[in-house]
Amino acid sequence: MQRRDDPVSASDWCRAQLVAGRKLGFVPTMGALHEGHLSLVRRARAECGLVAVSVFVNPLQFNEARDFERYPRDFDGDARLLADAGCDLVFTGTLEQFFPESGGARDRIAWREPGASAEGLEGALRPGHFRGVATIVARLFELVRPTRAYFGEKDFQQTLVVRQVARELGYPTIVVCPTLREPSGLARSSRNELLSAEQRERAVAIHRGLLRSRALWREDGERRADALRAPIREELALAHLELEYAELRDPDDWTSAEPVAPLERAVALVAARAGSVRLIDNLRLDESSS
Ligand code: AMP
Repeated sequence: MQRRDDPVSASDWCRAQLVAGRKLGFVPTMGALHEGHLSLVRRARAECGLVAVSVFVNPLQFNEARDFERYPRDFDGDARLLADAGCDLVFTGTLEQFFPESGGARDRIAWREPGASAEGLEGALRPGHFRGVATIVARLFELVRPTRAYFGEKDFQQTLVVRQVARELGYPTIVVCPTLREPSGLARSSRNELLSAEQRERAVAIHRGLLRSRALWREDGERRADALRAPIREELALAHLELEYAELRDPDDWTSAEPVAPLERAVALVAARAGSVRLIDNLRLDESSS
């Protein structure tokens, strides 16, 4: 596996693969890798043959300094996991290296506006977050020029933002992969490392609530957003998790506010805090997957 500490030399390697006519899969990450990330790497490898992974805790997408500072980092550990998963290139860099034209100064960065799918939910609670995501993802795509790029459904709204970036650039093909969960049902996340054993147990309530909502959709034929979100809120309250939102959306027609009319398709989305650790999750109610 190639390991590069600067984006330009990583970009050179990627360019050489494309010139040689190879397909390249790309998985952008913020590191502290777990099985969820590795499932994306394996899928990219199976579909493209070659895989590049970026590990960069992107300061542009953090709206809380404390969240950024304590975000787990372990580049050497990540590199070992990636080598075992069959990754061909891992690279990282500094903000200055990714945006040399700005000298790392935020006010000189050419920000990319994320569009309507950034409105509501994560976009409302984390001002500027999706602007930071769209900006780094576009820059990473320009550097890697991947054939396909792989993202997790766990960050549902992010997949909409990223699809928009890819539409604007004209590449790459975006592949959205299912959420990997711990045996308890808790969605795997780098932030889970920050949970105490007791908080981790309480956090399972998020998935329990989502499953109850899906049962309402499937078994009772419930289609009203307010009724579908009720069991999620109940489970979070029982587990003493602090609710940020539990809402329904039509996954194919994103709206900043929750639809009032009965839903034809539905994804339930949750953000909650266990102590100071912020967790998000979601579940398609209208599909048999995950
Ligand atoms: P992150 O390092 O959190 O920015 O995540 C990098 C990529 O991995 C994103 O596309 C995430 O959606 C994806 N990802 C994170 N957690 C999971 C998970 N539990 N299952 C599948 N994909 C995930």
